[in-house]
Amino acid sequence: MTYRWTLSGVAETQQFAERLAERLRPGDFLALEGDLGAGKTTFTQGLARGLGVKQVVNSPTFTIIKEYQGRLPLYHMDVYRVGDDVESLGLDEYFFGDGVCVVEWASLIEDVLPQERLTIILRNEGADTRRIEFVPQGERYVTLCEEFDSDARTGD
Ligand code: ADP
Ligand code: MG
Repeated sequence: MTYRWTLSGVAETQQFAERLAERLRPGDFLALEGDLGAGKTTFTQGLARGLGVKQVVNSPTFTIIKEYQGRLPLYHMDVYRVGDDVESLGLDEYFFGDGVCVVEWASLIEDVLPQERLTIILRNEGADTRRIEFVPQGERYVTLCEEFDSDARTGD
């Protein structure tokens, strides 16, 4: 099952992410996909706000991992530049920890991702419009999507 929505503008994307954040639990894993500028970091800023993070959230492209504290810890990663040496980063500590993991460009490290995860795909549809898709893998994420979908329909 794939869930799809249209998001018009940064504010709508962030509010949408904020609503998802309310349902997140320790250990949840979100794999963010989409080209440069699709809105992965923008979406994560909304998630952070929804988790009660007070710090400014910006792209972890160069640091790879940034950690924030809200209602739950938030581990924000961007693996665009990790290259082949993924194992040496010690990502498992985060992936199987008690925070919420959000990984931009997760498909680049597909082999080391948790089997059960929510894949979120963003697509630029021009100007301020983005398409967003949720693809749940595993019981936890199927339930999360069902519950979120039942109270978060925006657009179609
Ligand atoms: P990514 O992390 O995928 O590279 P960013 O979130 O850094 O993308 O950048 C998204 C860009 O698109 C920002 O400049 C943002 O202002 C712009 N934008 C326009 N409309 C939207 C929208 N509806 N949702 C998210 N970003 C949007
Ligand atoms: Mg980004």
